[in-house]
Amino acid sequence: MSVSDSLFARALQLIPGGVNSPVRAFRSVGGAPFFVKRAEGAHLITADDRTLIDFVCTWGPAIHGHNHPRIRAAIATALENGTSFGTPNPYEVEMAELIVRFVPSIQKVRMCNSGTEATMSAIRLARGFTKRDKIIKFAGCYHGHSDSLLIKAGSGALTHGNPDSAGVPASFARETIVLPYNDRGALDAAFAANPGQIAGVIIEPYCGNVGFIMPDAGYLEYLRKVTSEHGTVLIFDEVMTGFRLAKGGVQELEHITPDLTTLGKIIGGGLPVGAFGGRADIMDHLAPLGPVYQAGTLSGNPLAMAAGIAALRLLDEENPYARLDALGRQLREAVLDAAKAKGIALQCPQRGAMFSLFFTATPVRDYATALTGDAALFKKFFHTCLDHGVYLAPSPYEAAFLSTAHAGADLDRACEVMAAAIRAL
Ligand SMILES: *Cc1c(COP(=O)(O)O)cnc(C)c1O
Repeated sequence: MSVSDSLFARALQLIPGGVNSPVRAFRSVGGAPFFVKRAEGAHLITADDRTLIDFVCTWGPAIHGHNHPRIRAAIATALENGTSFGTPNPYEVEMAELIVRFVPSIQKVRMCNSGTEATMSAIRLARGFTKRDKIIKFAGCYHGHSDSLLIKAGSGALTHGNPDSAGVPASFARETIVLPYNDRGALDAAFAANPGQIAGVIIEPYCGNVGFIMPDAGYLEYLRKVTSEHGTVLIFDEVMTGFRLAKGGVQELEHITPDLTTLGKIIGGGLPVGAFGGRADIMDHLAPLGPVYQAGTLSGNPLAMAAGIAALRLLDEENPYARLDALGRQLREAVLDAAKAKGIALQCPQRGAMFSLFFTATPVRDYATALTGDAALFKKFFHTCLDHGVYLAPSPYEAAFLSTAHAGADLDRACEVMAAAIRAL
């Protein structure tokens, strides 16, 4: 029995499904998950000493590759002084300065411990600020696992065939209006049907949790216009896209100013972090200044702040986004060429260091079209890649991520493996 298999057998006795986050369980691709004992650059080293080229990048954070020496050193330095103080620490101010400098719409920011906390708190803030109850989200967008947002959600919820979770009271769910992404008519209809009632609209401006999907030209501008007209708080959930496609996220690329933005993943440099920020007049509704309560024992934790600050400073120094986009395009061309040669229908949306493979002839522009992807083909493709040392997210409904550490031989090798896996379908 492999080390991974014996660890998983023990985990299954003690942890529901053997995992601490559902997509890790490999349910949608079959087989058992592998355990990782070390990660370095673009590589994962499994408990059984296999080296894999990793396109999950710890689900987004590892944009500099794993275990980057600068981030490791920053954590080590912070560790010398202790792990948590329960009072303000200097790193929190530095982190806030970096976020406000880089993310165009953020005037004030509050740190928390996960993306889920960030979106949950942004929703509460939007409701407290507008004194309205209803929110709009989009089918297939995943905003973490708080009650209001776990409705027609993407990522693990979708992978496991239950985009609507048990345990969310119907009375809560009624306050969440779910619309198709990229559909202006549906947006107009929802506002018309709920006049003066919609507190906030939350969106992944580029979707990454139903695979990777881009907005139609003009869609995000339209969303900004409609929300402004109705006094509704527009929340860009950039937990995944923040600092991944540009330092200022999608809002910088698309020149749109949301009212609130949620962040996570990259800004923690691999440690647990979330943040939400935006217009100062809205943010000042948070306790202790205002009536909207939000708190966290470990929020602004010095180790997490130090890791995140190092990650953001590196992005600022290296500005790797054009390089990452070139890597993404190389991969995209390799898989599309292979699919064409083999006569297999494949969509490969890609921007910068994010991409997805949908085995379908239908251009993917929302939840419904994402579901047209052939799950059996993806499963076969996934396992062939893994057998040959390339690890993609174990679900057709996840984005793949590149890091700066992928450049060179690893990316060339990954292109060959993925192309061969397509030819073998
Ligand atoms: C990952 C993710 C979240 C949730 O973040 P966690 O840290 O896993 O709680 C929220 N929104 C988006 C867009 C994400 O990709």
